[in-house]
Amino acid sequence: MKLSDNITCLKGVGEKSAALFHKLNIYTIDDLVHHYPRDYEEYEMPVDIRYAKKDCVQTLQVTIKRVEGVKRVRNLQILSAVAGDSENSIILTWFNMVFLRNKLKVGETIIVRGTPMTKNGRLTMEQPELFTEKEYEKKQGHLLPKYPLTKGLTNNLIIKIMRQVVDSKVLEREFLPLPLRQKMKLAEYNYAISTIHFPEKREDLIFARKRLVFDEFFLFILALRFLKESTEKTENVFRFTKEDNVQSLQRQLPFSLTNAQQKAWQDVKENMNSDYVMSRLIQGDVGSGKTIVAALALVYAAENGYQGAMMAPTEVLAKQHYEYFVELQEKYGLKIHPILLTGSMTAKQKRQAKERIEMGMADIIIGTHTLFQESVAYDNLALVVTDEQHRFGVRQREMLMEKGTCPHVLVMSATPIPRTLAIIIYGDLDISVIDELPSNRIPIKNCVVDTSYRDKAYSFITKEVQAGHQAYIICPMVEESENMEAENVIDYERMLKEKLPPEIQTECLHGKMKAGAKNDIMERFAANDIQVLVSTTVVEVGVNVPNATVMMVENAELFGLAQLHQLRGRVGRGAAQSYCIFVSGSDKKDTKKRLEILNQSNDGFFISSEDLKLRGPGDLFGFRQSGLLEFKIGDIFTDAAILQGAAEAAGMFSENKALLEEPEYAELKKKIDFYLERDLNSLNL
Ligand code: ADP
Ligand code: MG
Repeated sequence: MKLSDNITCLKGVGEKSAALFHKLNIYTIDDLVHHYPRDYEEYEMPVDIRYAKKDCVQTLQVTIKRVEGVKRVRNLQILSAVAGDSENSIILTWFNMVFLRNKLKVGETIIVRGTPMTKNGRLTMEQPELFTEKEYEKKQGHLLPKYPLTKGLTNNLIIKIMRQVVDSKVLEREFLPLPLRQKMKLAEYNYAISTIHFPEKREDLIFARKRLVFDEFFLFILALRFLKESTEKTENVFRFTKEDNVQSLQRQLPFSLTNAQQKAWQDVKENMNSDYVMSRLIQGDVGSGKTIVAALALVYAAENGYQGAMMAPTEVLAKQHYEYFVELQEKYGLKIHPILLTGSMTAKQKRQAKERIEMGMADIIIGTHTLFQESVAYDNLALVVTDEQHRFGVRQREMLMEKGTCPHVLVMSATPIPRTLAIIIYGDLDISVIDELPSNRIPIKNCVVDTSYRDKAYSFITKEVQAGHQAYIICPMVEESENMEAENVIDYERMLKEKLPPEIQTECLHGKMKAGAKNDIMERFAANDIQVLVSTTVVEVGVNVPNATVMMVENAELFGLAQLHQLRGRVGRGAAQSYCIFVSGSDKKDTKKRLEILNQSNDGFFISSEDLKLRGPGDLFGFRQSGLLEFKIGDIFTDAAILQGAAEAAGMFSENKALLEEPEYAELKKKIDFYLERDLNSLNL
């Protein structure tokens, strides 16, 4: 067995399961060993029934008293047994698992693991895991990995084949030299890999994880540095001599730019006129007004005879940006020719758009990732803006360079990364921070409530709508699900119609809808034809309807704080007082404490740092910040110290490349070359 071998060489992996593994991007043994657990399960000491706590996972040691015959209810075969001692008993029930009947013998002691609850007045456990005492003993004392899965693939299968790989010791050579490892206090590579999958103790796990986090950051930063070197001093061949349109736009805006916006625009303009092409990140909290800075840059490019492209993460957002530019064109008489290009357009529409782009008839091109697909030929692309994502990767830049252009790049992000971290990660990418909100903003009023508050919330929303405003209500799910108790958009909207006066138009929006339908609803919401939008988090990023003043989030406990902050950013975008209602479906203390943070502040930086304190560095696999800058195992926030160390180590090599030619670094050099080749795709600048 070799690391480069296909996973089908493993026992238990056929064509069918291989296809499932492909969905998780696992093709080779090497991919598999880097599929890290997302959490671990501990098989604790079993307890007696009388100590059983309800509604949380428990392991009980019980004696079987009676086994019932199998009952059939519709298509379910129900197997049940009564177990316990002379004083207490519990009903154990399994659905469609009749084969377990052999394992249930009256008078024998078994171990069951599941969630005890009261049903029809009796203590019950449904679908518990079932073990003999011997079986359970074997499991105890280990941490059992829980892997990210996909439908059809079980955790047990992954454990089974991971064991094969780890036991066969096909592992890789250590590539970090001993002195470096000692200095950074890092575990040996192969130990780290086998321990991350099958740790004996928590301390071992932490030690192993540190090594893998280090590797991930170290290779990432080093690769970035090397790549930057190769793209950095790219000559700026574009000339910007006119700025009539830019000035006319600024003059006609209904507001004046904040100082921070002004400064960011100056930074951008300066870069665009310098000897080398721009690589700039504009960072600003939600609602700080990043779009106008990008708009100025795009108008600047257009009036000087170039094309500019703006890439958004979702179609809804791309459409909104497009409408914005059309409005600029019409309202302010700017000589720009915006065009939209997204995946959901018909083949014919796409072809027409591409033709206009190719012939230079369009100069501000807005879209999703479709913008950088190979078949789009730009006429004279001088500027690329990416909004709310870092996905303008090295690969895309290279692709454009192959086509003969190396445009200026502007990245806009609301991810609250502290400046120090941003510098470590982006190296010398220039950063402009918009750290000031437009002066007309009134701080959003927040409240965290439980579900009993709903009726009050609805009458509040009614009042706001009657005053001419609009509201969002966010639910975590699209439709009802068996696996999760949470509000869903479809039923919620139906229910809401009954609660609100009939003249209020409600509508639902979610990711499973066709792009055309989504856009249509967003447009009607923007035009105030819809007053209350019941939506999943598809509106999370970037959506701008300044007339909306209420954001109500159902099951707020299920979202990360950063995500809730993004959602809150959908209101408070105009001059009217806005409100945010976080409805918590859980009365757990931790949840309340976490949501309270949102109550305290509207500042994204503050929130992520408080969030961090609450989670603490001990929380290895807690929820991540929303979406951006995700590593496989490292977390730039909780692992900031490791990140710092990795950056230092990377600096040592990027400053002295000759070092890598020395024999003791031969393995490392190989690893870096491999990384650059394989992971270039996913490396994001
Ligand atoms: P974000 O930084 O979240 O992308 P946007 O660029 O969408 O924010 O701006 C949010 C809202 O604020 C928009 O409606 C925009 O027109 C408005 N806006 C931007 N700059 C200013 C300003 N200087 N004064 C008043 N309103 C502004
Ligand atoms: Mg935005």
